Amino acid sequence: MLSRVVSIEELKKIQEWDILVIGGGATGLGIAVDAAQRGFKTLLVEKNDFAKGTSSRSTKLVHGGVRYLAQGNIKLVVEALRERGYLLANAPHLTRVQHFIIPAYGYFQKWYYGIGLLLYDLLSNRLSLGKPSLLGKNKVLKLLSGISGKGLKGGVMYTDGQFDDARLAISLGLTAADLGATLLNYVAVVELLKKDGRIAGAKLTDELTATTYEVKSKVVINATGVFVDSILDMDDTASPAAVMPSQGVHVVVSKDFFPGEQALMIPKTRDGRVLFAVPWQGAVVIGTTDTPLDQISEEPSALDEEIDFILDHFNQYSQKKITRADVLSVFAGLRPLVKTSNTGSTAFASRDHTILVSPSNLITITGGKWTTYRKMAKDAVNNAAFVAKLPIVKCRTRKLRLHGYDPQIKYGEPLSAYGSDAIQIRKLMEEHSDWGSKLHPRHDHVKAEVIWAVRMEMAMQLEDVLARRLRILFIDAAAAIAVAPEVASLMALELGKSAEWEEEQVGTFVEVAKGYLP
Ligand SMILES: Cc1cc2nc3c(=O)[nH]c(=O)nc-3n(C[C@H](O)[C@H](O)[C@H](O)COP(=O)(O)OP(=O)(O)OC[C@H]3O[C@@H](n4cnc5c(N)ncnc54)[C@H](O)[C@@H]3O)c2cc1C
Repeated sequence: MLSRVVSIEELKKIQEWDILVIGGGATGLGIAVDAAQRGFKTLLVEKNDFAKGTSSRSTKLVHGGVRYLAQGNIKLVVEALRERGYLLANAPHLTRVQHFIIPAYGYFQKWYYGIGLLLYDLLSNRLSLGKPSLLGKNKVLKLLSGISGKGLKGGVMYTDGQFDDARLAISLGLTAADLGATLLNYVAVVELLKKDGRIAGAKLTDELTATTYEVKSKVVINATGVFVDSILDMDDTASPAAVMPSQGVHVVVSKDFFPGEQALMIPKTRDGRVLFAVPWQGAVVIGTTDTPLDQISEEPSALDEEIDFILDHFNQYSQKKITRADVLSVFAGLRPLVKTSNTGSTAFASRDHTILVSPSNLITITGGKWTTYRKMAKDAVNNAAFVAKLPIVKCRTRKLRLHGYDPQIKYGEPLSAYGSDAIQIRKLMEEHSDWGSKLHPRHDHVKAEVIWAVRMEMAMQLEDVLARRLRILFIDAAAAIAVAPEVASLMALELGKSAEWEEEQVGTFVEVAKGYLP
């Protein structure tokens, strides 16, 4: 259970933490799980909600990265394929195997992709999800019934993984809490505290109550994604920049434009990227772009040219053409790419992760992928334990079943994202007949999920429920706006909030949600 009341009590009680983690995205939450499992007294603070940053805005692929193979980054691909295997095994309720098809418009192309994907599969070794297969034109058109057959010579089908990113983040948070870690959303690090030139803790602000706290910690890990430089700055204003942010946009459309269960992978766009169209939660997610940015924001927004780029590319392959009016949701995320002296396109920048240990002993981790969060956490905690002279304990997360683990549950079915917790939600539905009713006719979500999110998953604001505990905002922004008043009223009852709070929540949420409508 994630409880803010309990966590605030812990915050006041504990004299000194072993590890303070700043940032509640994939990286920070993975670190909290690893550190807590090693028995370290761990505190994680997140300025917004868990996964509010990049970690809810990915393409939702658990993958080795076919593109990185083409770039020759074998080490990253091998590492990510290994992690893909572990994640599929440890969180079956939040992941699944996904088939992808690359359409080929020449016979050389078909064999070229076929051989490349065979190598991709060989690199996954014992964790292979199945060999790629060469497909004839008719088979491609049967499996990808939405694409146009013009000039098509066949294709190659290969296998990777797919997941629900924000729900995996919540599951990691719950796993860390199960293992004894203390986690808080809406608590920001505003200052680093030092003793004899070394980091000894941090000053925190509770963003919901404006209360400030000072906490001591033997070591502090900066896992704030594209915001790592702001924390490095708190340590030393002369710190060189560690990240170069790059924006990636996705559009979500109805499955009418792309029916079937297979995903489409277009291996080369104008700017040298790949473009995916992947079935997800009853809709199709299409993306992404790679736009270097100078300014970063907590709520990044898609540029018009990014939306056009995605629609143009997809429409070149599809039978039914998508217009802006067909888009159900559009979301943007910021890649925390490791800064290099390379001034070229960020599309070719490395997706490896890097760990920096500052002279003050601040540990900063950046780069990487959702897929490799576990390995990143292991490396970060190894470094932190060394710096803080914590007892030597081996990382044991490789076979750690994540919260909700239940191999019987099939990803994608109603309530499957809760794994073994689904049974408790069904009990809520029995207790209150109204809580079993659907929030919106186009979606399976029921009212009991809102109650659960508030009681057990630390949902504090309307957006936490509609964007990350449930994924409605990312799939269908208009539906999210439509259900906002009802969800706010259910939350207000649970949290003991006033009618003014409800109104303010709905107003703030609708403003954010409008940014998800093109
Ligand atoms: C468009 C796109 C598509 C992607 N697709 C995939 C994919 O399909 N598969 C894959 O494996 N990877 C993918 N990735 C990469 C993956 O999403 C990221 O590597 C990962 O989510 C980064 O997580 P993070 O925890 O480092 O950063 P974040 O998720 O951004 O988390 C950092 C957190 O730190 C918090 N924070 C900042 N400052 C403070 C402070 N002062 N105090 C407290 N908290 C603070 C922020 O609020 C934020 O929540 C994609 C990335 C993008 C952008």
